Amino acid sequence: MPTLTMKLELMKPTRHKQAIYRQMTELNTRFANWLLGYEELARATSAHFRKFSDEKLPSAIVNQTIREVTSKKKNQKAKIFRRQWCVYNNQNFRIEHENGQYKVSFPTQEKRVGVPVVAKAHQLKRLELALSEGANIGTAMLHEKKGKWFVSVSFAFATPKPAETAKKMMGIDVGLDFLAVGSIGTHACFFSGREVAFHRRRHAARRKQLGKAKKLNAIRKSKGKEAQWMKEMNHLISRRLVDFAVANGVRTLRMEDLTGIRHSAKSKKEAGRNLHSWAHYQLQEFIAYKAAMAGIQVEYVKPDYTSQTCKCGHAEKANRKRHVFRCRTCGYQLHADLNAAINIAKAISGLSATKKAG
Ligand SMILES: [Zn+2]
Repeated sequence: MPTLTMKLELMKPTRHKQAIYRQMTELNTRFANWLLGYEELARATSAHFRKFSDEKLPSAIVNQTIREVTSKKKNQKAKIFRRQWCVYNNQNFRIEHENGQYKVSFPTQEKRVGVPVVAKAHQLKRLELALSEGANIGTAMLHEKKGKWFVSVSFAFATPKPAETAKKMMGIDVGLDFLAVGSIGTHACFFSGREVAFHRRRHAARRKQLGKAKKLNAIRKSKGKEAQWMKEMNHLISRRLVDFAVANGVRTLRMEDLTGIRHSAKSKKEAGRNLHSWAHYQLQEFIAYKAAMAGIQVEYVKPDYTSQTCKCGHAEKANRKRHVFRCRTCGYQLHADLNAAINIAKAISGLSATKKAG
């Protein structure tokens, strides 16, 4: 069952509400850190909160925090909680569509509050799907970031059945010059990386200037802005690719398993390219969950020889020169990334065992 987390911004909370949220998350985080060292954690109930403090915290929050800390401690994930938070389970947290707006509600120290959320365009479609398909809400975490308040809601989706008519195989090659090339039989779609490269160069040049002036804060900001822009781009591309897949009756979608590529860079140039590999992973992840939500199966293939192999079977590095694939044996020629996407669809080196779908 694919799960996904959506970070929804609460729409302009009043100063009063912000004060409540702050006080509540601050108290809860202190409680969570106290629980980490609490000897009776395994048997803790909401009544144990009294041993920690006389302040007020809804038992729904207390119970969920005990669960969170217990599970984090079991996985030895948390030494100390730094970010302030509190979590609701699906019995205490609601999300509803009302008068054309999405609204969330949850208990606080004062009373239960209902607040509209600012849903971005790409979130709207997912929210609509999640609520109409009866996705299971897991938990919702309330937290602050840069003066804004968010709830991060996790959803679990039942994978829809593939359409009867969906029978085709699609290969997607994710790269740098072309961000993505999708191939379904004789149909293909291309996403040029030109705009991204332009953006990247502009940000890099600006950071170089800022570096000379030792403006470290501004450098961090510029990096954050670039990452945010890339994320939105990846959402857009993955949406178009999956729409293209649905429109063309795709049943299974294949991508390269890029795990480990980072460690096998043979040259400095290759290593430099891999600096951006996080963006490729992100794009693949976005494609994978959007595909899963559309009832399309996702498979990962071994990336060996996908860009060097010709349809005649001949594989040689020299077959590829930048954008052009030209077979040294039979002379077959086409766009290099498209050739790779076709080979990915065929899984010429076999399916990957290290990365599984879902
Ligand atoms: Zn050939």
